[in-house]
Amino acid sequence: MAVVQRGNQVRPAEEDAVRRSGAEEKGQLADSGAGKEVASGSDSDGDVHETVVERPVIPKCKIVIDPGHGTPDPGAVGPTKLQEQEVNLKVALRLAELLKDSYDVVLTRRDYRGAMPSVRGSLTEKVSYTKKASLRYRAGLSKQVEAAMFVSVHANAAANDQAHGYEVFHNDSGRWLARSVFAAMGRAMPDHRPRRVEMAKYFVLRKNTVPAILVELEFISNAEQEAWLKKSDTLTLLARAIHEGIIEAKF
Ligand SMILES: [Zn+2]
Repeated sequence: MAVVQRGNQVRPAEEDAVRRSGAEEKGQLADSGAGKEVASGSDSDGDVHETVVERPVIPKCKIVIDPGHGTPDPGAVGPTKLQEQEVNLKVALRLAELLKDSYDVVLTRRDYRGAMPSVRGSLTEKVSYTKKASLRYRAGLSKQVEAAMFVSVHANAAANDQAHGYEVFHNDSGRWLARSVFAAMGRAMPDHRPRRVEMAKYFVLRKNTVPAILVELEFISNAEQEAWLKKSDTLTLLARAIHEGIIEAKF
């Protein structure tokens, strides 16, 4: 659908509130796919009444995509200073783009800045960033927007600079989703180490009220993997794998 272009843009985090109304936007845009005959100008004089066949708009499920961290919190930093927050964001934005035909995607952040509750308030509102407040906001967003599921995107780090591989964590209700994403990653990156898919108590998982997963893409602390994570092709591959896992997931 050519019209769905607004979703491509990286909006300032302050415009996060738009995502609420973004649902409406998307609803309309989705409609343009379903009912092509409808004139887009919505002319009020009724000229097109006889030819227009209005089809019902079926609202899409919402999904929250959470690119982990964000300034002032860079997340893990690689040997050549690649920041996790940047990798997470790039993968998440590509994932959001892939998902938008199937889901109404709500991002916790759309640029380098860490997600904060202030983004839903006025632009002049100043709320100083704290990691805890950011996490609380992220974890609460799926309930707030009534999303069906929550996907947090992270890159891993370890003291052992040889550590490598991907893993997917989940909350109580997210096991089915985590397993599907883990399997899809395995198919997309067979030369990477499948570490584990298991329940974890990370804040954004524990505090989520919907099926929630946290994906650790690879170890940014490993020089070889950091170099891999710098490639644009890699970010696309990862986004596609997570997308496939989400689309194929079954309860
Ligand atoms: Zn992280």
